[in-house]
Amino acid sequence: EGRDLVLGGAIISILVNPALFWVVGKLAPKAPAPVATAQAEPKAPTSTGRAVLVGYGRVGSLIGKALDEARASYSVIEDREDIVEMLMAKGVTAVAGNAVSLEAMQAAGVAEADLMFVTVPNGFEAGRVVELARQVNPKLKIFARAHSDAEVEHLTGFGADLIISGEAEIADAMIQAATRLIPRRAVAAV
Ligand code: AMP
Repeated sequence: EGRDLVLGGAIISILVNPALFWVVGKLAPKAPAPVATAQAEPKAPTSTGRAVLVGYGRVGSLIGKALDEARASYSVIEDREDIVEMLMAKGVTAVAGNAVSLEAMQAAGVAEADLMFVTVPNGFEAGRVVELARQVNPKLKIFARAHSDAEVEHLTGFGADLIISGEAEIADAMIQAATRLIPRRAVAAV
């Protein structure tokens, strides 16, 4: 469980930094232009998001929180109905079911979206999600989660734009922390 938390945290830190700057720029509501009438009606939120989050578990829920904090517009496809109900109660557009389905992609507004986060844990299943999403929206930026070089290769083949391999990110973070801790001369002497 602890390892999963570390894995989730590492993935989020890598995904969220570049992604969020991009998302915020694209999705955050623009500052309203000065208007003569101060009583202008606020625009109703769109029913589907411009980012689509596939999976709302350990990884997806952290990305969802970051999107909430950025006040970004997004929808979720998640196959656990209890999670979907919880999201809908919060006012998030959430679609129950397997993301490898045209109906689910349409209901989540994939055709109109700018960015998709594929956070399902199985990289090969994620490949099917990426493949279908690409067909629905060729311009979509797709960020996907992987656990092995084989999954990275698989997802690259289906056209994912950014693939984060959890285990590699954990190793990198540990190596960087160790490099900071161990004095350079001691490392050179070894
Ligand atoms: P986690 O591994 O904790 O980040 O959780 C992954 C989440 O993705 C879980 O909530 C799963 O129910 C969800 N999930 C896995 N595969 C699919 C899929 N094909 N379509 C939709 N949701 C999925």
